[in-house]
Amino acid sequence: MSNNEGHFIIPVFIPHQGCPHKCIFCNQSAITGVRQPFPMSPNDLLKHVQKYLEYKKEKRKTTEIAFFGGNFLGLKRDRIDSMLKEANLFVKSGQVDGIRFSTRPDTIDTARLDFINAFPVTTVELGVQSMDDRILSKSKRGHTSADTDKAFFLLKNCGLKTGLQMMVGLPGDDGSHSIDTAEKLARLCPDYIRIYPTIVLSGSPLAEWYKSGAYTPLPLEESINLVKEIYCIFRKKNIRVIRMGLQASKDLDNGAEVLAGPYHPAFGHLVLSSLFLDMAKAELKNRKDIHEHAVIKVHPRNISRMQGLNKSNIPILKKEFNLNALEIIGDSNLTEENLCIHPKPTGFLKPILKKPTKKRHN
Ligand code: SF4
Repeated sequence: MSNNEGHFIIPVFIPHQGCPHKCIFCNQSAITGVRQPFPMSPNDLLKHVQKYLEYKKEKRKTTEIAFFGGNFLGLKRDRIDSMLKEANLFVKSGQVDGIRFSTRPDTIDTARLDFINAFPVTTVELGVQSMDDRILSKSKRGHTSADTDKAFFLLKNCGLKTGLQMMVGLPGDDGSHSIDTAEKLARLCPDYIRIYPTIVLSGSPLAEWYKSGAYTPLPLEESINLVKEIYCIFRKKNIRVIRMGLQASKDLDNGAEVLAGPYHPAFGHLVLSSLFLDMAKAELKNRKDIHEHAVIKVHPRNISRMQGLNKSNIPILKKEFNLNALEIIGDSNLTEENLCIHPKPTGFLKPILKKPTKKRHN
């Protein structure tokens, strides 16, 4: 379940359903924690959605049912039909606004799009991962970058919102391939992007490569810097980045499923904190009027990003710019992409309070 400014997603995980094979980095059961036997019966789906509809009723503006974790359009036609029909009952009754799903680029064709056209599908998310054919082949994706280009244009021609997922740290990628992928995807102008660092998950084919020394994951710090650079590529084109890093879960957090790699439960926060640190440093370097005390103003939603995880950005800035005091305050007049720095206002006089004179009671 996710809730972004009143948008409520009811996730229906279909781990590895419809996948032609296992991609090298993938273990959807580890990522989603969903191990129940599939396929989910229509009755199970009904109960699952009804349960989610009980949450946060008053705060919901829009609600969508989302089929994630597999290759939705790779399912057999009758399965797609029954799941969409079941989900559509909630749309028809007015409890849900639309349906979305994730799928592989090579499952998008006009026949399938004509078929889903009969249902209230609003958004399709493509697992792109890379736009480099050599890296796609090493990762055993089984599709090419041309499949992504073609799928994207078919989806857009149907008027569907399209989200794209990409990965950094795949085998054979030295970082430049990820940057190149981000630039190619930004040129497509998708509705949103998700960026995932490659993690070595237990039970994935990559786990064997890692154990044999054939694959070394990116260190966390390097991953953060690379994803930060990619985030900026998309933001420059005003493309929303709705997720960076895997969704935290009990199995991922306790290390049971993560063998190695840059997993952090607050990965996206680390990226944005690092970005705000860079912005503050760049601004402070050019400011001759800041001595000893600085006030950084950011949009209220960015206060914790500016502070950094465990407020780690504050001592870094204080040390680098010889500051005795650094305040971070929220200002809703600023945009979410901006910050502004002031010297500590001087000349504020504390109001002089007269001591109340005791009344004499004669
Ligand atoms: S990455 Fe997508 S297509 Fe590949 S195995 Fe995982 S769910 Fe299936």
